[in-house]
Amino acid sequence: MADVLKLRCSVCGREYAPDEVQYACPVCGQVGTLDVLYDYALLRTQLHRDQLISNRVQSMWRYRDLLPLKPESHVPPLRVGNTPMYAAPRLAADLGLVEAWVKDDGSNPTGSLKDRASALIVARAQEAGITTVSTASTGNAAAALSGIGASVENIKIIIFVPATAPEAKIAQLLVYGATVLLVEANYDTAFDLCYDMCIEKGWYCRNTGINPYTIEGKKTVAFEIAESFNWDVPDVVIVSVGDGNIIAGVHKGFVDLFELGWISRIPRLIGVQAEGSLPLVTAWEQNVSAVEMQPIDAQTIADSISAGLPRDRAKALRAVRETNGAFVSVPDSETLASIPAVARLTGVFCEPSSAITYAGARRALELGYLKPEERVVFLLTGSGLKDVRRAQESVSGGLRVAPTAEAVRRVLHLE
Ligand SMILES: [Zn+2]
Repeated sequence: MADVLKLRCSVCGREYAPDEVQYACPVCGQVGTLDVLYDYALLRTQLHRDQLISNRVQSMWRYRDLLPLKPESHVPPLRVGNTPMYAAPRLAADLGLVEAWVKDDGSNPTGSLKDRASALIVARAQEAGITTVSTASTGNAAAALSGIGASVENIKIIIFVPATAPEAKIAQLLVYGATVLLVEANYDTAFDLCYDMCIEKGWYCRNTGINPYTIEGKKTVAFEIAESFNWDVPDVVIVSVGDGNIIAGVHKGFVDLFELGWISRIPRLIGVQAEGSLPLVTAWEQNVSAVEMQPIDAQTIADSISAGLPRDRAKALRAVRETNGAFVSVPDSETLASIPAVARLTGVFCEPSSAITYAGARRALELGYLKPEERVVFLLTGSGLKDVRRAQESVSGGLRVAPTAEAVRRVLHLE
């Protein structure tokens, strides 16, 4: 295990003992999300990456020595992580890149990368003897917490969603047996209500951004990328960005490995936002700080990355600025067209907020933020089955045919 040395505010830099604060920085408020820091000098002496060669664990717990869990603590049984990375030569050729890969995190148990965060959160709740975990979310985070929660004994999951959330998304939560509160208000109000109830009742709050440990779970995707490249990391990782927690998690994973001396450089991170929800693109282009950012009215079909004031904006901006990366935005029409494009070029069917990385890469190439010769990993964070309705909108076709061989030959022009 990795002992947490301290928590450090991503905005003001104040440091706290691990038990001193539970959520965001008390001085900065919710914008002051906390980094979980370890004694890297000590870990360097204790761990070596070659030890992984004999490690047979086929999940995110392969990297347990770099996660904040006690040795005796149980972890949820579902297989989270160890998702496939596929070489994508046709995707690369289509975009004019020399080499590209796709990391298919939609293959996690509930269909998204967020299982990595929820698995660690549930494990930590059990370690602490907490029996109720709660989050506000309309989508993948809620599904992940509900699913991981259902995989273990004696954990109750309470989800706060706006009453207007799509019924199909709520169905997945109910299937897993979560208690779903349909709050008659918007997401931000549901978020605050969830947090207030967690503080009052002692529930563990998984809310994105304010819980510093979600990133510790998500960082395992960076570990997997690095190991699959035999620690010679790719030049660029392209990630879609809503609240900013995933790009921050990818960054944290590479930073951990760099601090340990397991990799010699950190890939550049390119964040892709939807044009209707691009506060981080704007802040990056105009050199605005996370504290100065103002909420916008976010509108996009890529619902998983719709965020008017990204919860983890401080870390997301830092991830791009410190890695000499970039933020780009994509109109919804291109996001929609990216769904079949990615599927046809790689065989991976992903949701709009993952497919957007394809159009985002094209944009980054046009703007010179991405060079054709750079080795690029596309992080596909959610399964296409999460949003079948948008997939339906992205394609047409289907050939009506009479039930005879002659009709089939005719419609396929085989004669
Ligand atoms: Zn602070």
